[in-house]
Formats: sequence, C-alpha cells, structure tokens
Amino acid sequence: MNEEKNNARRLTPEEKKALQFEREQLRHAEEAGCSGLIGGWAFSVRQKRDMDADEATHDDDPFICKSCRSDAILRKCTDDRRDHYAHHARLSPVVEAEETELHKGCLAEICDALKQKFPDGNWGMNRPIPANEKLGVGEVVPDVSGRIGNQRIAIEAQVSSLSIPKIIKRSAVYTKRNIPLVWLVPLKEDLGSEPFRPRLYERYLHMMYFGRVYYWLPGFGTMLQPVHYGVAFRHIPFAEWYDKEAEEEREAGGYEKAYKVIKSPVPSAKIDITTQFRLQHRPEFRPWNERRTVPPLLLWKDILQDWWDKSEDEAFRKRFKEDNLPKEKHKKQKLPPPPMDWRYERW
Ligand SMILES: [Zn+2]
Repeated sequence: MNEEKNNARRLTPEEKKALQFEREQLRHAEEAGCSGLIGGWAFSVRQKRDMDADEATHDDDPFICKSCRSDAILRKCTDDRRDHYAHHARLSPVVEAEETELHKGCLAEICDALKQKFPDGNWGMNRPIPANEKLGVGEVVPDVSGRIGNQRIAIEAQVSSLSIPKIIKRSAVYTKRNIPLVWLVPLKEDLGSEPFRPRLYERYLHMMYFGRVYYWLPGFGTMLQPVHYGVAFRHIPFAEWYDKEAEEEREAGGYEKAYKVIKSPVPSAKIDITTQFRLQHRPEFRPWNERRTVPPLLLWKDILQDWWDKSEDEAFRKRFKEDNLPKEKHKKQKLPPPPMDWRYERW
C-alpha cells in the first residue's frame, strides 16, 4: 500500500523529461532576454505565418521570434525532447570560463601594467581579503587589487561562469568593505561594429555602470573599451503575396523595426582605468526591464559624458516597457496610444 503511494508521487521518466525541458527553455529565455519562443511558435518568413515547431520543417526557414524580432533556429529533436526554436544572434567574443590560461594571461597583463604605473600600489592577483565578522562579510578574492595613490580598488574580470546573484553578492561585499569595484569583460578579439546579442551578465553590467560595459583585449594594459548597447534595427524586406484564407493580395515590409534584445555596439574612445575613472556611489535601483534589484554599490566608474544618442534609447524603452507589464486577466486592458515613432511598433 505504502509502496503504491510512493510510486504515485514519483514522476514518470516522461514527466521528468518534460519538466527538465521546460526548465531548460526558461533558462534559455532568461539568457536570451526573451521568452517569445517558449511556447514553440515562431514566424516563418517563407510561409508568412506563425508555425508550431512540430509542424515546421527546414523548408520553412528562415524563422523569426515575433516577440524580439531576432532570428530563430528550428531545432528538430530526435530524442524525446520536443521540437523547439532557439534564438540565434552573434555573441560577443568573450574569454570563456574554461579558457583559464587565457583568463590568467589577461589578469597578469592588467596587474603588470598597474604595477608599472603605480609601483607602490601593492598590486596583486587573486589575493584573498579575509572575512570580517564586524562587517558581516565573508572572504573575497578579487582578480586584481591594489592602490592608485591612496585609493584602494578591486578589479573583477567577468568570465561567463558567474551568475547574476553571484555578481550582485560579490559587488555588495566590496561595497561593505568600502572598496570601489570595476567589472570588465575580457574579449578574445575585437567586438566589431555589427549588432550582437549581449549575454545576461553583459546586460546586467551595462545597467550597473549606467549604460556601458568595459571590454578589455590583450595588449590593452590599463586601457578599457567602454561600449554602450544602442538600439539596433531589423530591416523587414518588402513582400507581396496572396493570402488564401482572406482571399486577398497582401503586402508588408519595406521598413526598419527595433530589435528588443539585439544591440548595436556604440563604443567611446578607449580610456585609462587609472586616470579616467573615479569612485562613485550608485544608489539601489531596479532596472526597467529586469526583475532583480541592483543593490547600493560603490563603483569604480569612468568620468565620461554619455556619448550616445539618448533619445533613441528613450523611444525604445517606452515602446518595449509595455511588453514587460504583468498581464491583467480580468480587467479590460486600455490600449496604449499609437506610437509616435512607427519603428518601435510591435511586430
Ligand atoms: Zn525572442
């Protein structure tokens, strides 16, 4: 009798797999910054209609995610996972977590360059700062730490294995210790000028540092490349076709539409971490498109004026904010007024 009860509670292997698949889809959505593909639907450009992943074949390529307008790839699965779509876009060429030698090389170069400029700065790599019970903080091991004059600073070089909660936790510990922190993202090659899809942690750092990410490349020494994520547009080609269901000629396209998660890199000039950065307090805030609050932080941040076109960012934000509002099931939703700028209209 008991055995039966236990069995009833346990998930069948099929249910387990389904649950695992669902979790995987949610994780991918979080990473991509868009949940538009979770239900297994995408828009087939060739067929000019939405297609279920089960029904679609590669003859229906290419596909587009209707929520964020980026390219979607159809994944037909041979195992027992369900057919699905995945977001597809260029990623930044970051040093990956498993490339430990490359990562160490980056840190060594930065540390050496800092030693040369500030020989009395007591610079060190992976030097633990012991736990402090009074402050209630555990041990931290900054990638690089030392002093510029009397100012202590900590440098963390982000590798993709670090999750957002860990980034938040680690940043908060430095703040409690009164050490300003700069996160930088080491690249293997130049980011280039083509649009790309920032990873979850890149988007997060972008918010933390008021709209820029500090990229670093071998040979940079104490220089960094700040990059703002500007609005990128997808060109929707003009097309005419005969709609069999509606029995009429139709046409669409011939314009540009803003991507939701794909961004255009907008770099500033390269800047020096030792002369063009200052300590800055960042009060707690909740980014407009994220669930996680950024705690109050002590940052080592550049002194540049914002170098990008802010009006474009604002128009984008206004347009896409509505997508993130919780849906009210019972109340009739008031439709937003037509967009001032047609380029930000929903798909
Ligand atoms: Zn999408």
